Amino acid sequence: SKAHRRGIYVYQFDSALIQRLAYRMKILTELKTALASGEPFFLVLQPKVSLTSGEPIGFEALLRWRMEDDSLCPPSEFIPIAEASGLSLEISEMVLSKTIQAIKLLSQAGFLLPVSFNLANKDIASPNIVNDINRCINEHEIDATLLEIEVTETQATEDYTMINPILREMISRGVGVSIDDFGTGYSSLSQLADLAATTIKLDQKFVNDLSCENNEKALHIVQMISRLAERFQFNLIAEGVETEHQRQLLIDNGYKYAQGYLFAKPMPLDMLVNWLQSNDK
Ligand code: C2E
Ligand code: MG
Ligand code: MG
Ligand code: MG
Repeated sequence: SKAHRRGIYVYQFDSALIQRLAYRMKILTELKTALASGEPFFLVLQPKVSLTSGEPIGFEALLRWRMEDDSLCPPSEFIPIAEASGLSLEISEMVLSKTIQAIKLLSQAGFLLPVSFNLANKDIASPNIVNDINRCINEHEIDATLLEIEVTETQATEDYTMINPILREMISRGVGVSIDDFGTGYSSLSQLADLAATTIKLDQKFVNDLSCENNEKALHIVQMISRLAERFQFNLIAEGVETEHQRQLLIDNGYKYAQGYLFAKPMPLDMLVNWLQSNDK
């Protein structure tokens, strides 16, 4: 009967919902324990390279979390849960401190290139994080130009009037500012003209779309963003370059720098130092 089917439907809906909630609760509980010790977290670093020579120009720090069952929980899963639960500032502070450590170790190994880290939504607006960044730079006596922050285009433009002056202050101290996932947000042209950023990062979606049979639209977007970066004097990095074909199309359209599996995957620091030493001739 209809009522019977509806009963089953409601039951299945509830069970999926309950499973999702239970999963979030498990992540959240484990996340709190993990954050208290800090130990299950580590950074992997992905080189940013020249599209033509493959030479590294810097690195992006990406967070990894090893869960109690030894599996790695991807940041796309635990960062949103952390944000919704008020834990994101704690994560950003931990990532900042691990990034500073990475900068020091890379410097000691002879590699003086900037390292960027990702800031969770809203954290850039927190006075804590700006103070932390300034304090870390002073305490550890690192060159501010070796540190970079990445904020998404959506973040930077949603709270533009509040965030843009903060980004500008960071830049005035020498810290780099990258606008992440560029092209997927909704910056207005007037915001763009005034955007406090040193670099924009073309979202990997567009690079991926370059490989499609009908890539005309993607090609137009890729070209427009390259002109825009040139006009407004932003450095430009393409994300997610996986194929030789994509590399060539990007070079043809004025791109100089990229990140992607074609060049190097994100690696723990010791592997990165090996990669750099074998790359360095
Ligand atoms: P994102 O900042 O845009 O980072 C780029 C993501 O693309 C990374 O995924 C990286 O591993 C991946 N990637 C790099 N090259 C390629 C490629 O050639 N092909 C493909 N398919 N993917 C590539 P990951 O590490 O899983 O991070 C995902 C997102 O999670 C990041 O996007 C960033 O938004 C967030 N995230 C990562 N670490 C942190 C962190 O420490 N703090 C915060 N707040 N967010 C983080
Ligand atoms: Mg990023
Ligand atoms: Mg990105
Ligand atoms: Mg992304």
